[in-house]
Amino acid sequence: MNKWVYAFGGGEADGRADMKNLLGGKGANLAEMSRLGLPVPPGFTITTDVCTYFYDHGKQYPPELSGHVRAALDAVEKLTGMRFGDPSDPLLVSVRSGARASMPGMMDTVLNLGLNDETVEGLARKTGDARFAYDSYRRFIQMYGDVVLGVEHYRFEDVLDNVKRDRDFTLDTQLTADDWREVITGYKDVVKEELGQPFPQDPEAQLWGAIGAVFGSWMNQRANTYRRLHDIPASWGTAVNVQAMVFGNMGDDCATGVAFTRNPSTGANAFYGEFLVNAQGEDVVAGIRTPQPLTVAEREEGGSDLPCMEETMPETYAELAAIRDRLERHYTDMQDIEFTVQQGRLYILQTRNGKRTAAAALKIAVDMAGEGLIDETEAVRRIDPASLDQLLHPTLDPKAERQVIARGLPASPGAASGKVVMTADEAEKLAQMGERVVLVREETSPEDIHGMHAAAGILTTRGGMTSHAAVVARGMGRPCVSGAGELRIDHKNRTATVKNVVVKAGDIITLDGSTGEVMLGRVPTIQPELSGDFATLMEWADRIRRMGVRANAETPADARTAIKFGAEGVGLCRTEHMFFEADRIVAVRRMIVAETEEERRKALDELLPMQRRDFVELFTIMRGLPVTVRLLDPPLHEFLPRSEADFADVAKASGVDVLKIQHRASQLHESNPMLGHRGCRLGIAYPEISEMQARAIFEAVVEVASQSGDTVSPEIMIPLAFSKAELDILKAVIVRVAGEVEKASGTSLDYLVGTMVELPRACLLADELAETAEFFSFGTNDLTQTTYGISRDDASSFLPAYQGQGIVEQDPFITLDSVGVGELIRIGCERGRKTRPDIKLGICGEHGGDPASIRFCESVGLDYVSCSPYRVPIARLAAAQAALAAK
Ligand code: ADP
Ligand code: MG
Ligand code: MG
Repeated sequence: MNKWVYAFGGGEADGRADMKNLLGGKGANLAEMSRLGLPVPPGFTITTDVCTYFYDHGKQYPPELSGHVRAALDAVEKLTGMRFGDPSDPLLVSVRSGARASMPGMMDTVLNLGLNDETVEGLARKTGDARFAYDSYRRFIQMYGDVVLGVEHYRFEDVLDNVKRDRDFTLDTQLTADDWREVITGYKDVVKEELGQPFPQDPEAQLWGAIGAVFGSWMNQRANTYRRLHDIPASWGTAVNVQAMVFGNMGDDCATGVAFTRNPSTGANAFYGEFLVNAQGEDVVAGIRTPQPLTVAEREEGGSDLPCMEETMPETYAELAAIRDRLERHYTDMQDIEFTVQQGRLYILQTRNGKRTAAAALKIAVDMAGEGLIDETEAVRRIDPASLDQLLHPTLDPKAERQVIARGLPASPGAASGKVVMTADEAEKLAQMGERVVLVREETSPEDIHGMHAAAGILTTRGGMTSHAAVVARGMGRPCVSGAGELRIDHKNRTATVKNVVVKAGDIITLDGSTGEVMLGRVPTIQPELSGDFATLMEWADRIRRMGVRANAETPADARTAIKFGAEGVGLCRTEHMFFEADRIVAVRRMIVAETEEERRKALDELLPMQRRDFVELFTIMRGLPVTVRLLDPPLHEFLPRSEADFADVAKASGVDVLKIQHRASQLHESNPMLGHRGCRLGIAYPEISEMQARAIFEAVVEVASQSGDTVSPEIMIPLAFSKAELDILKAVIVRVAGEVEKASGTSLDYLVGTMVELPRACLLADELAETAEFFSFGTNDLTQTTYGISRDDASSFLPAYQGQGIVEQDPFITLDSVGVGELIRIGCERGRKTRPDIKLGICGEHGGDPASIRFCESVGLDYVSCSPYRVPIARLAAAQAALAAK
């Protein structure tokens, strides 16, 4: 037979904490606390199975339910010595919803259920407090009328306001018993008027009305929306908790409050909370009266002049403090507790794991491990890797004032303030003069990279979370707000306008890339730091993880950040980013438009020393850690000269006519550059380019060895190959150059040659590729593009529609598509290992910093992940959790 109802109270319970699926979070913990002997008012939980049954059977209850409820109610009557509906001493109950996960959008709690015109008199007589009895009754009519009967809130408020106005009262506490009686009459009239029926007087009918309202609220619009946003299946259902009332509103020795066993914003191991004297239910959060602090320490810290519970109710406080310890030790996690004091007696009405900031989560986990409550592995398990993002970028001082003028998408987290600039060149120019700037554009393109790098933050009016601006900004760790569509940019007048606010170039604005807010003026920020508890937890994670963590970095600044955050090498150094620097773009363009090998070699000779210098700097910072250098992979169009001035510069440098350069540029124009002459195809056509790069790398290795003694073992990566033949040709060039450098320098070089696997064909032929390649690094950005046939830069215009219709669940450019793209990776690993069992395997797409994708990487046994420097700590933690999950 089905058990639909679980009782709790009197030091016993049918349920347990681990029965959240059946009893909901609230019900399971009420049962658990009851078993622990904590002062929990008795009650019972109607299971989530009833909710499921209800919806499966045209909103009918299981036939046995009413009997089970009656029996459970009998038990509560026995424990309390009162009877439900008794005119002289009525048992009152609360009816509370409770899903597995706490869910705003569900029915609000109804308190004081069981009161009617008769029982209220009994309550008044028994307590000798008519005012309390009528106050409770009017609260009940108001809550029940609102949440069960659907009478609009304001109708009740109007009645109360009128009575107060008549009496010249400002506070509810000024109302006498007779005043409340008048309010009750008014409330009942409202119900009758709205529903054409009197307020239900039968306590049984009230109870079933409230139970029905909880189950009904599971499918209301608010709840449906919340579930959709948080991936909560409708099949879970909610439970209903019915519980004997205790009263925090019976006088000055009564109170109600909430407490956290540790500080939820800092994590400090100090009791923390708020309470209100002579109040009921949600008065504390409703903000009608200012709540008082719990402890002396809290009062002194917060500068409150209100008396705290520790002082005004020392004995009850001591009891609460003891329960705090008890609950924390039992649940081994920070708890969020709701309590009520009735005439000096403490009752606990709820406990759950408390929500906390990322900083608090770290402190609590590390402290609890230190206290022996949990072990280090559990501490590592407790932290959500994605939440660390909050700590890895400068963030706005939460205490600071802010004037928000526009909102866009939270494209890249962190906060930045600076002068508004509207072109990349301007950004670079001002940044070189030491100014902090925010680059404001409709959208960005690869031409803007230098300006994006120079800017403290990036704001665009178009484009989504995967727009160029968003992706590049995330990679660089620059805060970015994208798609702030209300903003109008006027390039002629150099202004950005939103509604009637005009922001001029040079004005200071602040972006919050974590919320998408755009603010006027400078809002103070706080700098990130990997120290203290954060560093400790990272060390623990490092002990657990199997995979290495590297960073995608090419600039000295990125490399330093990577090291600071614990990267164990560079997994992707994109040499074309080095080519974009202003001092070499002309030489690069000359190389690209060159029509003869001789012409090209002249340009390359100019580039060689610059490239070598870049590598010397990078290798020096990386101090002997492995560095994977990818040979040039530019979509050609990004480099082609565009403006008149560009053409003139290149013509001058090459010593030829402008017209010739323009002609050559139009020859090189491609209709599909992302699928055009890029990747290793460039080196195949012009091997002298790869030759120059290999030489720059090897000569830098020699130079660094002689300067600092660090031995660098570069891993030279050939991009976008689909065949062994391509690898053979380019590897031969690399090996030849290595031999030449070895001979010239008299040293021997240690290096690997491998390939970036970013085409389905490369995965399928991985066994052949591995004959030449000594390592694979999965370039999952391009591999995702080429597997789906979707351009990442254009996906934002249709991907939301795909997500909306459930065709794709997650953006595959953010979380690796483990079944499609992942299958190719699996095949690539398997076939690669078949040829070369010790082949080194890594990943270097954006996915390398995404926790879910990292879990996938662990499952296929990759040797390392590589991600943007700012995501390195996230990847370290995610890799540790992936290793634990794989055990
Ligand atoms: P929520 O899910 O929004 O936290 P609850 O069901 O916990 O809602 O109820 C909100 C508040 O109502 C509780 O914090 C408590 O103050 C009050 N409450 C609920 N049940 C009772 C009860 N049996 N006796 C006294 N107060 C109660
Ligand atoms: Mg609530
Ligand atoms: Mg609650």
